[in-house]
Amino acid sequence: MDLYNTIQAWEDGQKPTVDEMEAVLAHNDPDFNNALYEAAARVRDREFGNKIFMYGFVYFSTYCKNECAFCYYRRTNEIERYRKNRDEVLEISAGLEKAGINLVDLTMGEDPKLYADDYKGIVDIVKSVRDTVDTGIMVSPGAVSKETMPRLRAAGGDILAVYQETCNRDLFARMRLKQDYDFRMNQRVWAREAGMLTEDGMLVGIEDTPRDRAEHIRIMGDMKCSQVRAMTFIPQKGTPLQNVTPPVDYTDELKAIAVMRLAYPDVLIPASLDVEGTAGLKSRVAAGASVITSIVPPDIGLAGVAQPEFNINDGHRSIDYVRNLAESLGRREATMKEFWDYYESHRPEATLRC
Ligand code: SF4
Repeated sequence: MDLYNTIQAWEDGQKPTVDEMEAVLAHNDPDFNNALYEAAARVRDREFGNKIFMYGFVYFSTYCKNECAFCYYRRTNEIERYRKNRDEVLEISAGLEKAGINLVDLTMGEDPKLYADDYKGIVDIVKSVRDTVDTGIMVSPGAVSKETMPRLRAAGGDILAVYQETCNRDLFARMRLKQDYDFRMNQRVWAREAGMLTEDGMLVGIEDTPRDRAEHIRIMGDMKCSQVRAMTFIPQKGTPLQNVTPPVDYTDELKAIAVMRLAYPDVLIPASLDVEGTAGLKSRVAAGASVITSIVPPDIGLAGVAQPEFNINDGHRSIDYVRNLAESLGRREATMKEFWDYYESHRPEATLRC
């Protein structure tokens, strides 16, 4: 297989096969990788022009009942935790809207308090934020019941984000300890049935193979995800994986971004500031990303997920800093009209308008 011809064929519109994606992800030659990124960036620009969406990150509860092996916030890690109350979440969300972000990402651990009374706490927060801001709302609530999805949609949730991390069941069992693979996979099916767009994500660099990543990219498409992401594993203090040697660089993540872009030209692909901070924005945008996520205002006591404090209190994840950085990369922030136009044109047909 001539892999240069393969990526040219993808750029020309040919649908990638799993075997092709595996071969491209496995072939690590710097010149080839650059050709891959450049093809992905051209396809992104064909679909999105130079606009980029900006998402504000509101990690409003760091409590969690789970024990994911890779996660700093796993239940038994003895760390300081917080749970923002309704008024705090509203104030942060309103501030993000005023600053000009396109979407508020309401993220939480699987917090028993917010899961109580049939997930009432989550639904109430989403509804309150919907009543307060006119931005898009993404909900990242962990794995919830099927019946909760229409309630999240009716409360005002536009996108449901639940990351499988890996489609390798054995690896999943070792990463997301004591969690049900199929229940988690079904989150995105149920959310689409309820009328929400969906996001899946993969964790790169923790025993995953190019085949795993290629299969995962296929599944993301089969599930009609409108937003897909890859994030590099960063070892976290106090977890079973804290002493694992991290990937030497972010190449596998960048290649996954580029392959996802070429496989699904019109999907939203985040460049997350949560992995490498603002230093990593340029390479992720160059690989085909169309969204900047994990924008966090400084000095309000919010944490990131993969990097709990990285670049937050120095203001380098503030909207103004990120906007200037994006402009220096030739990107301009999408307007709210552009965000809603995208959203409406990708909304599942089974709809529950709110
Ligand atoms: S990854 Fe999510 S579900 Fe797993 S321990 Fe961390 S916060 Fe909890």
